Amino acid sequence: MSTTTITSEKTTANTQSTPVPITVAYGDGIGPEIMQATLDIIKAAGANVAIEIIEIGEKVYLSGNSAGIAPEAWESLRRTKVFLKAPITTPQGGGFKSLNVTTRKMLGLYANVRPCVSYHPFVATKHPVMDVIIVRENEEDLYAGIEHQQTPEVVQCLKLITRPGTEKIVRYAFEYARQYGRKKVTCFSKDNIMKQTDGLFHKVFDEIGEEYPDLEKEHWIVDIGAAKLADTPENFDVIVMPNLYGDILSDVAAQITGSVGLAGSANIGEEVAMFEAIHGSAPRRAGQNLANPSGLLLGAVQMLVHIGQGDIAERVHNAWLKTLEDGIHTYDIFQEGVSKEKVGTKEFAQAVIARVGQKPSQLKAVSYANAQKTIQVKLKPAVPVKMETVGVDVFLYCEDRDAQKLGEKLETIKSEDFKLYMVTNRGVKVYPNGLPETFCTDHWRVRFKAEKHVNYTQIIKLLQQVTEGGFEIIKTENLCRFDGVDVFSAGQGA
Ligand code: NAD
Repeated sequence: MSTTTITSEKTTANTQSTPVPITVAYGDGIGPEIMQATLDIIKAAGANVAIEIIEIGEKVYLSGNSAGIAPEAWESLRRTKVFLKAPITTPQGGGFKSLNVTTRKMLGLYANVRPCVSYHPFVATKHPVMDVIIVRENEEDLYAGIEHQQTPEVVQCLKLITRPGTEKIVRYAFEYARQYGRKKVTCFSKDNIMKQTDGLFHKVFDEIGEEYPDLEKEHWIVDIGAAKLADTPENFDVIVMPNLYGDILSDVAAQITGSVGLAGSANIGEEVAMFEAIHGSAPRRAGQNLANPSGLLLGAVQMLVHIGQGDIAERVHNAWLKTLEDGIHTYDIFQEGVSKEKVGTKEFAQAVIARVGQKPSQLKAVSYANAQKTIQVKLKPAVPVKMETVGVDVFLYCEDRDAQKLGEKLETIKSEDFKLYMVTNRGVKVYPNGLPETFCTDHWRVRFKAEKHVNYTQIIKLLQQVTEGGFEIIKTENLCRFDGVDVFSAGQGA
């Protein structure tokens, strides 16, 4: 086991109330330098925090811990419930698990909140007016990590969207918009294609949205929504989306502000929250006093609001904006003719500290006056539904690609409870009345429908007949009807 050092250190800036315990990891590469700069700035602005330092990342991985985090570190996180994390280096080679994914999943950090703001004309950008908050669902969707190879030719990743998971993230987005004085919440989904999964996400967005009449609501299909976000980001305010689209588009949105180096992000759970920069550990820049600490600093600003120190967050954020505006820039955002002074990490931190108490005059000053509490999300009680099973999809492995022959052979199965309805290949109906042009793999779905509700004993009997008929079953999915509505997809061309 690796040695995890946990040391405590009290800040002295604000001793009037009890310091809020936070867990800090200095990380790898440029991590220690940008963390030091960040802590120096927030302390100088009066942050009242008691810091517990944990070690995570490269050293812990290389000591033989494949998760990159030791049990003592989990204890600290579960005790303080607030984690300020510098980027870490994931060693090359297999077997090392992503610490970010592990932390998010283990601590239930369901909301990833990433403000993407441009700072025209002080940071070069194609989008001078951009101030978008991406709220990404962080636990579900294709990231549930349930993948299987089912036949020699076909692998599957399960996309899970849940009602409570969606309700949590959507409510969070609306509550965030209210608390931060935002006007509009947009939902991105692909419910024209994924009618059940993304359909649920969109439906819950519409339902919850009705509880927020003060906010404008809109929905875009993710493809055209993403194109519009990249083209006219000034038309967006808060955008909420499922995990995969959020993963991709939060990077796109940060990049088009002008620099990913300036964005911070919060990962919020019901109990614990983690704050960080969105960039990595930039190992080639490490130890040279070059790195820009702004991303982590803005993560720390989100943290200060979360722990109820919004007044300090505001002082830090405005001092930082003033520093940018005064042209004091690290190498990554330095522009001849715009920047006044190229500085290192430490000097940048000192410049921000010297401006604590000041506000920007050209860039918009921030106010966290109404954002001094942690956003709490309460779920509506589940509504009971009448659930019936009206059939079963039986997935088969069959090397022979003759769909007509397969269908005719399946017709010989005589079941009391089920009728063969169709056979599909990759979702496309190939029997009855398939087209010879349809490309087929070795993975077939056979849909059997029942006249009325069936139980699992009846399904097992059918499966036995299918097996005895010489077919190789891979898996099954029940066909359900909720409150009289069929809740499964039709076949393409069916
Ligand atoms: P990176 O973000 O570290 O670097 C990308 C580029 O941006 C580099 O040119 C780098 O020099 C520059 N850059 C990044 N942050 C900067 C800053 N603050 N100031 C100035 N320049 C900065 O991405 P990468 O090179 O793909 O990854 C390096 C390591 O970071 C990898 O081990 C990766 O696994 C890890 N990583 C960690 C996190 C995290 O801990 N949250 C996130 C992403 C990548």
